[in-house]
Amino acid sequence: MPSAERTACGELNPSRRRVGPLIYTVSREDVRLLGVGRRMAELTNDFTWSKSRHEKFRECLRAYYYQYYGSWGGWEAPAGSPVRELYVLKKLSSRWQWAGSVVHTALKRMLERARHTGRFQGLDELLARTRERARRDWSVSREKSYWREPSQIAGLIEHEYTEPVPNQEWKRIWDEVIEGSLRAFFTSVAFERIQRTPREKWLSVDELDSWLFEGTKVWVAVDFAFGDADGVIHILDWKTGKQREVDHTQVGIYALYAQQKWGAAPQGVRGGLVYLATAAGDCVTVSADPVALEACKDEMRRSIAAMRERLDDAPRNVARLEQFPQLSAPESCRRCPFRRPCGRM
Ligand code: SF4
Repeated sequence: MPSAERTACGELNPSRRRVGPLIYTVSREDVRLLGVGRRMAELTNDFTWSKSRHEKFRECLRAYYYQYYGSWGGWEAPAGSPVRELYVLKKLSSRWQWAGSVVHTALKRMLERARHTGRFQGLDELLARTRERARRDWSVSREKSYWREPSQIAGLIEHEYTEPVPNQEWKRIWDEVIEGSLRAFFTSVAFERIQRTPREKWLSVDELDSWLFEGTKVWVAVDFAFGDADGVIHILDWKTGKQREVDHTQVGIYALYAQQKWGAAPQGVRGGLVYLATAAGDCVTVSADPVALEACKDEMRRSIAAMRERLDDAPRNVARLEQFPQLSAPESCRRCPFRRPCGRM
């Protein structure tokens, strides 16, 4: 069978799934959007867009303001100042976000090493190193060390707000989400395909990058991308949560990025969503056809316009707190990292 007929998921009919309507969910991407390769002091708060930014915009306008405006400059603000507090809080993750990020980091390191050495680390070795890192993360978070260096030290919302989480729950997070996901990855069809793909065909291993969409910088981090012998670009995204139709929308954004970054043809991108919560790391193929990509672009346009409409000065990206109201239902605030400065304790 010609390789173009198979996707990275090993499926034969890539067009059976399409990119769905753009609905946004929480992702680990937020944590990684700042401080990449540039000194913070040189940054200006320019308007950019990402899927996670829109998720925050839809979740709560006040949280969106804190995340993208109120905390700006917090890396150099004095301890105890409101801007410093918002900056530290915006870096925190829930235990589920943290577990997903541990898995992504472990796979990124393993694949990056394989890219350079040609050798894939074994599962036992990967689990041992990941366990060590996860334990260290958890311990320093419990001590709230992230207040010292929030851009370097992981912090958990549960520790910041002294939420009672039983030991069995932490163990379950390790067993089911972190170790379970890594085991699933090693048995997945996607990993088998990655191992068979010559390294010179690898295009990206979870690299944060940006592209321009109608003048707006858009952030993306593709978990894995490679080109096949027929010039088709395959994009893979690991998911540690349950399957949701909304995951397919991410592929549309990645496909648009692939067209711009690697010059992919309109029909020349295949997406694969690898669900690591399943024992075999089930892979679902997503085809991003031109109609679906146009719908994706429309959604992005609407999203960017809605964000910019809230600004006092859109060209200079100036926002005012009063334009970003709190949620009307306080019960939705229980997991928010900003609940203390927001007065919703
Ligand atoms: S505490 Fe509630 S209202 Fe305040 S930022 Fe968080 S989610 Fe929004």
